[in-house]
Amino acid sequence: MLTKIKLIVHSVFGKLNYLYFCCPNLYFFKMKKIQMVDLQGQYEKIKDKIKPAFDHVLDTAYYINGPEVKGFQQDLEKYLDVKHVIPCANGTDALQIAMMGLGLKPGDEVITVDFTFAATVEVIALLRLTPVLIDVEKDTFNMDIDALKKAITPKTKAIVPVHLFGQCANMEEILKVAKEHNLFIIEDNAQAIGADYTFRNGTKKKSGTMGNVGTTSFFPSKNLGCYGDGGAIFTNDDDLAHTIRGIVNHGMYKRYYHDVVGVNSRLDSLQAAVLQIKLPLLDSYCDARRNAANFYNDAFAKCDKIETPVTSDFSTHVFHQYTLKLKGIDRDALHKHLLDKGIPNAIYYPVPLHKQKAYQDSRYKEEDFKVTNELCKTVISLPMHTELDHEQQQFIVDAILEFCN
Ligand SMILES: *Cc1c(COP(=O)(O)O)cnc(C)c1O
Repeated sequence: MLTKIKLIVHSVFGKLNYLYFCCPNLYFFKMKKIQMVDLQGQYEKIKDKIKPAFDHVLDTAYYINGPEVKGFQQDLEKYLDVKHVIPCANGTDALQIAMMGLGLKPGDEVITVDFTFAATVEVIALLRLTPVLIDVEKDTFNMDIDALKKAITPKTKAIVPVHLFGQCANMEEILKVAKEHNLFIIEDNAQAIGADYTFRNGTKKKSGTMGNVGTTSFFPSKNLGCYGDGGAIFTNDDDLAHTIRGIVNHGMYKRYYHDVVGVNSRLDSLQAAVLQIKLPLLDSYCDARRNAANFYNDAFAKCDKIETPVTSDFSTHVFHQYTLKLKGIDRDALHKHLLDKGIPNAIYYPVPLHKQKAYQDSRYKEEDFKVTNELCKTVISLPMHTELDHEQQQFIVDAILEFCN
């Protein structure tokens, strides 16, 4: 009994990291420290399942390609309603391997967006393909369809839509363009796993399963994160799945016979064990993020200097990031103001990819990147995770509104 009480006291006080040592306000005694992503808090709730699963892997010493990897692969195939999931080492590898699997060749043009994490364009360049960056829509931050149509040339071979911040790009239109020009689609689904897309005829599909191939990342802070690095590739194409299974394993289809140049890219058994436990929770994680987003949306509704995220009608939003657009507010000053109050926040992304030293190209014209250029100056992302509570959110909202008024 006494140990039980001790345990409770310990877990309550041990885990409350208090905000502000020096500021004796109401929150001093109550509020949990605000984090951009609260991985510890989420872990606490599933610890009882994770530890025995880890023990099992350690006891069997099946660290690589253990039964957890196959088990997770099958669970994810079922969840996504996709024929093949090929686990790999991270989301960047997943993109690279998908492009290798499609047989893209140096000089082939691959169209992707200017407003995304660099991994997307990095692998295109790494494979000596030609990246063609295009602008995004101002409301959803996803691929602009007119820009896509304009960017197509006889050398274009593939399109890489990024489902940015947790909602799907306009796949109906992208699929139409791809079909018309005979192009591959590789969906970068690192930020939107769990999102649902509804086509005009009512068909529903999971994000990442609509193009020829989809990729994702299980980096700890992603919506479905493991406790290290991890990634996966999805496809409904049997031949492509076979090709990719060889590529991730040194180009081997028969042991020690290397038919193609491959890579070594694996999800390990410990990470797969975590993901097997977390996958059944993914929908509830998405709901928690949506609830937090609704709280922010309601709170900022009255403020005309703040534009809250816009969700398109064909996709659900799983809020990998909750990103505001500021109008007539000094973004960098707000960033500092929040940090001073102990509120983490981030700029995703501060520099358009076409302006990055590694990806500059004399073909790009500034007027083709109006939206991205503007977004990089006006967006700010707020704390968003499955463990946010209303008290923390109210504190964040008050700090922002105080600055804006
Ligand atoms: C995180 C991310 C990746 C890369 O995933 P890693 O697992 O970190 O390699 C790729 N694309 C996008 C859009 C991402 O957000």
